Amino acid sequence: MVLSRAECQDLDAKDPLREFRDEFSLPTGVVYLLGNSLGALPRRTPERVAHTVETEWGVHLGASWNTAGWWDMPQSTGDRIAPLIGARPGEVLAGDSTSVNIFKVVTAALPLRPGRRVIVSDLDNFPTDRYVVEGAARALGAYEIRDVGEAGPSLEDALGDDVALVLLSHVDYRTGAARDMAAVTELVRAAGALMVWDLCHSAGALPVRVGEADFAVGCTYKYLNGGPGAPAYLYVAPRHQDAVQNVLSGWHGHAAPFDFESHYRPAPGVRRFATGSPPILSYAALNASLDIWGRVDLDEVRAKSVALTSLFIDLLDELGGPGLGLVLASPRDPERRGSQVSYRHPHGYPVVRALADRGVVGDYREPDFVRFGFAPLYLRHVDVYDAATALAEVLREELWRDERYARRLTVT
Ligand SMILES: *Cc1c(COP(=O)(O)O)cnc(C)c1O
Repeated sequence: MVLSRAECQDLDAKDPLREFRDEFSLPTGVVYLLGNSLGALPRRTPERVAHTVETEWGVHLGASWNTAGWWDMPQSTGDRIAPLIGARPGEVLAGDSTSVNIFKVVTAALPLRPGRRVIVSDLDNFPTDRYVVEGAARALGAYEIRDVGEAGPSLEDALGDDVALVLLSHVDYRTGAARDMAAVTELVRAAGALMVWDLCHSAGALPVRVGEADFAVGCTYKYLNGGPGAPAYLYVAPRHQDAVQNVLSGWHGHAAPFDFESHYRPAPGVRRFATGSPPILSYAALNASLDIWGRVDLDEVRAKSVALTSLFIDLLDELGGPGLGLVLASPRDPERRGSQVSYRHPHGYPVVRALADRGVVGDYREPDFVRFGFAPLYLRHVDVYDAATALAEVLREELWRDERYARRLTVT
């Protein structure tokens, strides 16, 4: 074997990130490879949420808007996310969902390029990004969407002096392929367009540098362990902050919200992108997780992520995965990969279900992708070994053929 199970255990004993596994509450007997979809629960989260409920809400009630920092939570939480994406304090606002933030950012960005009427989008992106761009174009009127992606033109060919904005994901949600953010940003800006990055599958998976990008959005419930429906975030480059307008101009983004003026005036900086009352309980859960992330060395995360994803691919090669119908969909070169490994398999859905019954949790994405996310803070080499051998067994013995694995659940 590439590595024996014992050799994997040796690597785990020497892993500089090994202590972080104890920060997470993981079900026993399960190898959880869906940290790219819903990150695991930090052990400290229940207590933090209970404190917010019982003390901040239960005892101090509305005073907590001041005393517990509730009012400033979108900004203070954003400041803690900033270093994870290579941004500085004052450049990131936490709140809403990624979908809503895409709408806010796209509608704020387009007026910065008057006369340019094309939005470049990627048909291979997570569909909500494209759906929201459609809605934004319809709401603003007179915008056209130009799709890049496997079935469309390349980004180079799509760019032109009519393009106002380009929205792309850094890491592809199906294949885990990572774009070169700096190079793409440079290309887009050289064409006179604005660059908007979606970092959903990047933050917490690898070090990210927003660099010269104009805007970015991302979620916190995947690799960042903020919990289901945790507040998302948006980044606005300082050069644009006082020039852009939030079309969802609610009172939380007002310059003087407690003056209750008759008309909207935007707050300075990124705060103008706030809209309405923030879900404080969700911010409490997210902030518990960010306590952990504040102590993490992202270069160590990247090194371990590359080791785990490469190990998984190598083990499956050796276990005969390709002969069993697995076609690697992720880049083999780790430099071009996020923290996810995907395969295509004609029976991907029942394969994932059969694997889950053996304690290995991955997921399935249409049309035939089997996805495995590798969250370096709580996964071990030995988990990768066990997952690869279980997957090879499911395929070799055709355990997926059991008819109970064919029936689709609501959430795949
Ligand atoms: C996960 C993900 C989303 C999720 O959007 P929500 O508004 O949080 O549901 C959006 N875009 C991409 C690229 C994603 O990976």
